[in-house]
Amino acid sequence: MNTEKYLVRPDKPIRISDLDPNDSSEFEGKKKAGQAALKELNKEIEELQELLYAEGKKRLLVVLQAMDTGGKDGTIRAVFEGVNPQGVRVASFKVPTWLELAHDYLWRIHSQTPRKGEIVIFNRSHYEDVLAVRVLNLMPEEVWSKRYQHIREFERLLVDEGTVVLKFYLNIDLEEQARRFLARLEEPSKNWKFNPGDLDDRALWGDYMLAYEDLLNKTSTEWAPWYVIPSNKKWYRNLLIATIVRDTLVGMKMQYPAPPADLEQYYQRVLEMVQSYEEKEPEEE
Ligand code: ADP
Repeated sequence: MNTEKYLVRPDKPIRISDLDPNDSSEFEGKKKAGQAALKELNKEIEELQELLYAEGKKRLLVVLQAMDTGGKDGTIRAVFEGVNPQGVRVASFKVPTWLELAHDYLWRIHSQTPRKGEIVIFNRSHYEDVLAVRVLNLMPEEVWSKRYQHIREFERLLVDEGTVVLKFYLNIDLEEQARRFLARLEEPSKNWKFNPGDLDDRALWGDYMLAYEDLLNKTSTEWAPWYVIPSNKKWYRNLLIATIVRDTLVGMKMQYPAPPADLEQYYQRVLEMVQSYEEKEPEEE
């Protein structure tokens, strides 16, 4: 699959309205085959994550941003299905607490970045500080407008120190959001997800799109690129993100740590240990 076409190039500004949230062209709309391909990718990601953890040297940060119902939770579930929970963590960023607000906006973010061997998925992120903050007028422009540069440089720091950074904007449209709200109201098991306040954000859709467009164009860098993922079709969204995560992990070229040089000698010792038990208690038929 050509995932490059969903990349926001630093030298080529995008307009969100030009990008089709219904697109599934790289898999020609073949949902069943796409779902089967995802299962294979899950296995590969599981193995690669094991390797990342075993090697214990590199780190992967995956940033997810979307409008409400955009599918951040579903993406995390589908793409990281089966991974070892010891090496993967989700950090969710909600409305900041008083303690978080008492610090600079990157304080809570930096403390959640991955350690060596770990994958961390950001469910919302520092980008809320140029989104919600901007659209809802929580800070004056003079404050938030400086943040694009802070963010570029903050991510540069992470990358220079050995973290790989991937950023996904899950692109849905207003029609799809309306359907997903309805599903939340109709299905009892989804009722808990419905938040009346989300309708207020929907009313500000145009402002959010402008804020997203601006941040995508200003903070997609060579070192920490943004992908705009067509996300009306959940299966295609999962498939694209899993492909990019798999490809990125492969590109990180991890290796299992070298075994002790005298492995054969330890093998003999342990074999003898096991054999000594077998001599004492013969195996039951
Ligand atoms: P989610 O929608 O991610 O499942 P919530 O329904 O609790 O979780 O929504 C989190 C809310 O927190 C969103 O409305 C988001 O805009 C808001 N938020 C997150 N970070 C910030 C921030 N730095 N400043 C203001 N609002 C924020």
